Amino acid sequence: MTDSDEFDSDDFDSDDFDSEDVDSEDVPSDPAQEWRDYEEKARKGRRLCGLGSRQGYYKGPRSKWHWWRRLYRCSTCTKFKPRTAFGTRPSSCRKCQRAQSTAYNSSPRGRVLRLFRGAQRSSKRREMPYQLPDPKKPTQVFDFFFGVVRRQGYKCAISGARLPPKAASLERQDERRGYRPDNVTVIHRDWQSTSHDGAEDGQSSSQWTAEKFREVARLRDRLRLIGSAFIPQYTLWATAAAGPLENRFFTEEQQTLRVRMLDAISGAIQRTEARREKGRDHDDVEIDVAYLAELYRRQHGRCAYTRVPLAVKGKFKWSVERKENDKGYTKLNTVLVIKEVNHGCAQWSKKKADKYWGGPVPI
Ligand SMILES: [Zn+2]
Repeated sequence: MTDSDEFDSDDFDSDDFDSEDVDSEDVPSDPAQEWRDYEEKARKGRRLCGLGSRQGYYKGPRSKWHWWRRLYRCSTCTKFKPRTAFGTRPSSCRKCQRAQSTAYNSSPRGRVLRLFRGAQRSSKRREMPYQLPDPKKPTQVFDFFFGVVRRQGYKCAISGARLPPKAASLERQDERRGYRPDNVTVIHRDWQSTSHDGAEDGQSSSQWTAEKFREVARLRDRLRLIGSAFIPQYTLWATAAAGPLENRFFTEEQQTLRVRMLDAISGAIQRTEARREKGRDHDDVEIDVAYLAELYRRQHGRCAYTRVPLAVKGKFKWSVERKENDKGYTKLNTVLVIKEVNHGCAQWSKKKADKYWGGPVPI
């Protein structure tokens, strides 16, 4: 087994394969077997999983014509290319390196090691100690990672549902503590959180936990009974949206809500600007405070996906979601959801929520 397969192109570590659908419809009969196959593939070295190793620069003969034109040969695609088509450590041309890197990152071995590299990097960013196995030592990483999965019964630590190997992700149970063996579980990517804004209200971060997952199930059962007759806090929302009243007549809750509404809108405007700069064609932000209150009324005060009542602070805090990611904050494309389903990499939907918590809940 090679211990030297840290991939040399971390800069290609983009999310270009994260959009891929990992929840394929064909559910394997035996999840343990699925994981054992995955582990076996991961433990094989890079070369053994059919991926090229880092090779030297192609030193074979060049014809006089190629020499004269200063063309070099890529050792992977064997095409002649100018020097500029090769990177700083040229084994293959940039294009081939990129393809190899993508293939490696989505292979079992690459995926698992990438999780640990990511954990290490984010520990460094947060200036927290990283106490998991070193990603440069694959054997140790695999012993640890597959051990945790086995102890979890090959199930997601939050939902208890099937955990497809490709969707596995590392999660710290207590976000205030670092990556340490006793603080790490393996979860489905759907439950992952990328923003860690828990500090704001003390314990009430928008991170998912197994407890919260069960709470949503209980809430949904109750909502099925209640139906859509009542809108919990419509007066609050309508008042907060109606401003500017003189601030001193606002209750603290109304004030908090109004500030959050304005923040959400200015955030939407900023993100739209940022996306436009990246060349994406997004429409102008159409939402305003009045429209947020209107949405709240239309959704009966509940999250559009999970149906959980939207809170102003604490857990299940409301947030503004674009239904389709390639569109902007237009009125048609905006819904209110709980923050829990709006801060990870995974795109949530009503369908996904119904899948996890069994059956639809009317709004
Ligand atoms: Zn090439």
